[in-house]
Amino acid sequence: MIDLLRINDPEGEYPKSYYTSTVSIQNVLPSLQENIKCQICIIGAGFTGLAAALSLADLGYESVVLEANRIGFGASGRNGGQVGSGQRWDQEKLEMHFGFKQAQIFWNIAEEAKKEVYSRIKRHEIKCDYNPGVIQACINRRDTLDSYDQADQLTEKYNYQNLRKLNHEEISEILNTDFYKGGYLDLGAGHLNPFKLVLGLGSAALTVGVKIYEKTKVAKIEYGKKNKLTTSAGAVVNSDYLLVAGNGYLGNLDEETASRVIPINNFIIATEPLKYGFLESFLHHNYAVADSKFVPNYFRPSPDKRLIFGGGENYTYKFPKNFKETARKKMIKVYPQLKDSNIDFSWGGTLAITRNRLPCFRKVSDTAYSISGYSGHGVALSIIAGKIFAELIAKKSERFDFFSQLPIEPFPGKSSFRWPLMVLGMLWYSLRDRFR
Ligand SMILES: Cc1cc2nc3c(=O)[nH]c(=O)nc-3n(C[C@H](O)[C@H](O)[C@H](O)COP(=O)(O)OP(=O)(O)OC[C@H]3O[C@@H](n4cnc5c(N)ncnc54)[C@H](O)[C@@H]3O)c2cc1C
Repeated sequence: MIDLLRINDPEGEYPKSYYTSTVSIQNVLPSLQENIKCQICIIGAGFTGLAAALSLADLGYESVVLEANRIGFGASGRNGGQVGSGQRWDQEKLEMHFGFKQAQIFWNIAEEAKKEVYSRIKRHEIKCDYNPGVIQACINRRDTLDSYDQADQLTEKYNYQNLRKLNHEEISEILNTDFYKGGYLDLGAGHLNPFKLVLGLGSAALTVGVKIYEKTKVAKIEYGKKNKLTTSAGAVVNSDYLLVAGNGYLGNLDEETASRVIPINNFIIATEPLKYGFLESFLHHNYAVADSKFVPNYFRPSPDKRLIFGGGENYTYKFPKNFKETARKKMIKVYPQLKDSNIDFSWGGTLAITRNRLPCFRKVSDTAYSISGYSGHGVALSIIAGKIFAELIAKKSERFDFFSQLPIEPFPGKSSFRWPLMVLGMLWYSLRDRFR
């Protein structure tokens, strides 16, 4: 049986990434050794699990977090750091499928999600290098016109006043490349160091009394009136309520979630600090960028003037050996001037996607829930998801129900056979990127 928690990383250790080089790693927290009972148990110490624990504490609930590796070991500690606006679907698509009223709810929750991130940063004094500004950069004229329509729609229908359209000349000047044909700048979105954020949330949770056990892998869940969890070391946890927040690393621990939410891998590189004169305008503006490819390139400057560049994904469990070179080639297409720059760091991470790319909020039983599958748009959404879980426990289930009623269908073949079909579909779209 393939173990997603171990297959690409040494057991219990963080990957060597630019992010891990920016903090001093704390001593490991004790793992769970004895049997315990608790009111609320959470599996996974990423953004979802920790935001849930913190929001529960705000409402007066105690919780226990079980983390197979370390706090922020998963996607939360490795991602592109973009705190994006909206959902994974744009508002027009949401309106088409669900009508304006529901699309407005999606938008409002996404706006609250960004605010929740800022407010946690402020409240817990987390120094995570936040900077405002994300550019939606378009690779051709058609995508540029679509992005202008989106900007108009957000400004006029949703009264979102943070957008500035960019033409070819403007975007080229800001980004020091003429690769992109236009797009828009979103000053209501931003970027940060996600590892510092997730560690900050972990410390805040410990401070308010959340019990976090690291190197504690849940090996089995028995759902019932109470939930019985058994760790790989044999300790048993009995909990009144359970949140499964293992996202892309969960594997088949919960079969129904596994059939709806599948892991894919995505890769990032970081250059050496860039020499004076290289990408000056880009470094000066300090905006993050996400482009319009099906497998998007996303990049941003680091405080020490590196280019952090995300590009390329794969759909098998194991990271490919050449992912650093794949990402570097993508970077050089955008920035040929960096062809001789050293790549100091390269790392990969596993995220979870759903079939339609909307998040998967599941009521597993009357006392057990799972939230995952943000499909690459989870930095802000996972943090509001944690808050929505806490509301549910406090008997305000409206927002959880809103998401849990979305049509998140199983992948064809359910959890065991979904791979070949999914891989074919994804490869087809990623190949299309080459001809646009
Ligand atoms: C390379 C990359 C780039 C990305 N870039 C962006 C971006 O720029 N913007 C954006 O919005 N989103 C981005 N994402 C997605 C975003 O990172 C995720 O949506 C978000 O971090 C999900 O948080 P989470 O807490 O649900 O999951 P995770 O952070 O993956 O946490 C899950 C945790 O559960 C633990 N776990 C799993 N199974 C068990 C078990 N059996 N027992 C105990 N613990 C278990 C894991 O060890 C892990 O720590 C990116 C993802 C990747 C991989």
